[in-house]
Amino acid sequence: MPEQTAFTVRSGDVTRWSQTLIPTLREAPAEAESPSHVLMLRAGYIRKLGAGIYDYLPLATRVLSKVSNIVRQEMNAAGASELLLPVLLPTELYAGTKRDVDYGELLFKIHDRKNASYALGPTHEEPITELVKGSVTSYKQLPVNLYQIQTKFRDEARPRSGLLRGREFIMKDAYSFHTAVEGPGGLNETYDAMYTAYSNIFRRCGLSFVPVEAESGPIGGSASHEFMVTCESGEDTILRCPVSGYAANVEKCEIGARPRGTFNEPPTGELTEVHTPNLPGIDEVGKFMKVKPDRMLKSIVFEIKGSEGSRDQGTGKARWALAVVRGDHDVNEGKVKIAVRAITGDEKATVALADEKAARAAGFAIGYVSPRTVNSVPGTVLLVDNDASGGGFWASGSDKPDHHVKHFNWRREVGAALDDASKVCVVDVRNAIVGDPSPRSEGAKLEAAKGIEVGHIFKLGTKYSEAMGFEVLLADQQRKPVIMGCYGIGVSRTMAATVEQNHDADGIRWPMPIAPYHVIITLLRVDEEGPKTTAMEIAKKLAAIGLDVLIDDRDERPGVKFKDADLIGVPIRLTVADKALAVGAVEFKVRGAAEGANGGGKGTLCPLADVVSWCAQAARDGGLA
Ligand code: ATP
Ligand code: MG
Repeated sequence: MPEQTAFTVRSGDVTRWSQTLIPTLREAPAEAESPSHVLMLRAGYIRKLGAGIYDYLPLATRVLSKVSNIVRQEMNAAGASELLLPVLLPTELYAGTKRDVDYGELLFKIHDRKNASYALGPTHEEPITELVKGSVTSYKQLPVNLYQIQTKFRDEARPRSGLLRGREFIMKDAYSFHTAVEGPGGLNETYDAMYTAYSNIFRRCGLSFVPVEAESGPIGGSASHEFMVTCESGEDTILRCPVSGYAANVEKCEIGARPRGTFNEPPTGELTEVHTPNLPGIDEVGKFMKVKPDRMLKSIVFEIKGSEGSRDQGTGKARWALAVVRGDHDVNEGKVKIAVRAITGDEKATVALADEKAARAAGFAIGYVSPRTVNSVPGTVLLVDNDASGGGFWASGSDKPDHHVKHFNWRREVGAALDDASKVCVVDVRNAIVGDPSPRSEGAKLEAAKGIEVGHIFKLGTKYSEAMGFEVLLADQQRKPVIMGCYGIGVSRTMAATVEQNHDADGIRWPMPIAPYHVIITLLRVDEEGPKTTAMEIAKKLAAIGLDVLIDDRDERPGVKFKDADLIGVPIRLTVADKALAVGAVEFKVRGAAEGANGGGKGTLCPLADVVSWCAQAARDGGLA
């Protein structure tokens, strides 16, 4: 029996560097972008095979399997069951949901020898719904929560930063099925359990993260949370209120009460047309006209799709929504949708950025639109952001190609329509920015951080069950579409995000729980049997208490070995060297713990008899449970 089984019932692995593949590099290939991309290439974790396609080498595979095991433990503990669905999905699966069309270019499509068409699974709502639909007929069989850990395929427009955005990547995806939203067994209960499981997973991986409110869902409220790892290289912007703790992504972030201006301020001068040809963006136009972007009005045309009929029919009355924000702000499509629903009274209306051709045909001079079009294009509603209302000097498009106007005045230019609440409203239609008032705490201001989305939980409602005709018999003998939730984690992205957050000038610094090895034994003399035997004996003892050990037995200079040990990021380093061995000890060092860690840091002499307990303590201190 091992003397201690504190960490795991499984014994650790012992690997000899000379027998595995860890091809470290002095320099990263020039195209490597973010720290995780550079370090995982240099440290021999990944190799590129094509755009957004990577080999996972042995070290990466070990980390991925540790992340996956944490995911499994927490998912199983939360009542979910693992299964495995095919990657190859017959296109007929999408007949009901039309997602093969909605997904567009993102979907990898292939044909078999009989010319039947297939997709490579980008995510698995359809096949799981198909499976459960075929096996579950009664409410008595629900709820159920099923997950898999699998390679997903998405033909990303811009694969980047190595594993952070690949075209082939590993995802854990879970799907839950319910007959109710509230109450025991309902969607909300599972959603909350997944929220907790996700928090446990990312905490156990050693990540610092924030769950943020994302897009609202079909059943109201905040139906979606993204789990964001905060770091410089993040693609997403998160806004946070330091007082209330409220956090949301830019697409969702609400803004606290803002003052609004009146439309009745006097003009600042005569409306003056300026010829502005060949200027690609609002900044260029501003420079040319000598107007700051915050004094320009940006008018963006959206097409309204009503609950009834096609987009062409709009909501009956309204077909176009013109959102007006200040030139230095960005329109928020989700907020435009909410505002359109409020002003038209159509609770199911949706919006999409207008098709240029259709909008031109209707009378919008795309690129040069002004708020005046509320009067000239029938079926237009005008949504003016608070900051774009009011008086003072404004520049705007002039509703004619290659021209803008100065001294735009709301009352003079738009007139009586401004008083028609069914046509014009002042409302929040822009993305939140740093310094905006917090929506949750009066007087507090929003702060920004960059983040990487590692997980996403979503209340789907009946979107898929309705589209695929999945109903079950309820206790009252009624048939109803099943209510669903879905829950994803980017497993390979989580590994890369961990490196983004945990590295220094010398290399990766793995958090103990997902390190490929807990201990690296650096053997300085590989030509003598004595030290080799000692290293192997230590390794076996460490493995017996569940620690994974890599023995660097390569015939390399000590400097190279120390540098590589820091680069690959194993947390505990033991050095077996003649001098220490002569006094019955090895050198013990925790990665990054001392100054001059890069090869120079000597570490502490550890008596051979204490090696196991010292390593055990360091592993425990590092969060290994
Ligand atoms: P993103 O906004 O980053 O494109 P997404 O919102 O489209 O991601 P989901 O459909 O929510 O992604 O997928 C679930 C999880 O899978 C994401 O939270 C993310 O961690 C991971 N993921 C998605 N796309 C990729 C990718 N191209 N490479 C690696 N991981 C990805
Ligand atoms: Mg997502």
